[in-house]
Amino acid sequence: MDNAAATTLLQEGLRRLCVEMPQEVALAQVVFAQELLRWNAKVNLTAIVQLEAVVEKHLIDSLTVVPWLAGNEVVLDLGAGAGLPGIPLALAVPGLQVTLVDAVAKKVGFIKHAAAMLGLASRVKAVHARAEGKPESEKLPRADLVVSRALMDVGPWLALAAAYVRPGGSVVAMMGKGVGLEGQLAELGAENGFAVQDVKHLALPFSGDPRTLVRFMRRK
Ligand code: SAH
Repeated sequence: MDNAAATTLLQEGLRRLCVEMPQEVALAQVVFAQELLRWNAKVNLTAIVQLEAVVEKHLIDSLTVVPWLAGNEVVLDLGAGAGLPGIPLALAVPGLQVTLVDAVAKKVGFIKHAAAMLGLASRVKAVHARAEGKPESEKLPRADLVVSRALMDVGPWLALAAAYVRPGGSVVAMMGKGVGLEGQLAELGAENGFAVQDVKHLALPFSGDPRTLVRFMRRK
């Protein structure tokens, strides 16, 4: 699959999720995916190796968060790995300031390279650190919105994320399935100073894989 076909596929998938993107931004997303695959040959970054699958499982999955970014300026991606969801979100939303943190140096190296290559260096920062809830000493911001994909269970994640979000800001958990957790979200949120703001169930557009997005707001 070439870049033009992958861009068309990306746009088709996003359309089904009601996310709109200028064509040049969609192409930049595909260039990021290609670079991820190119680096993956020497640095282990992802188990997904077909461009078509990367478009859905990494790009589109990351971009499901876009509708919740309006009104936010400073975003923190905790445990970003190869830059997911932070890089696709930074590409999608002009002006968004995104800090991505990961405990593994080679992943942070890739994020820095990708950000520079995509012209995002002025508003995307990659930090090599193990986030332990101390933003000042870890050189991490207090964000308007904290997001993580595939980092940890929602309970411990809320306890960690609370340290990095300003009062009134939100945290977004990206979950494979909500099964079994739905009834506990309000309680887990409350234990950590959050109220559940939105729960969104969706299916990825081509595979139909279920996803649950949960947005919590930090109480003032
Ligand atoms: N968000 C990416 C990566 C998920 S894997 C994606 O969805 O593809 C989880 C990542 O979190 C790993 O890269 C791991 O190094 C990182 N990680 C785990 N605990 C962390 C912590 N406390 N601080 C920073 N990074 C952490």
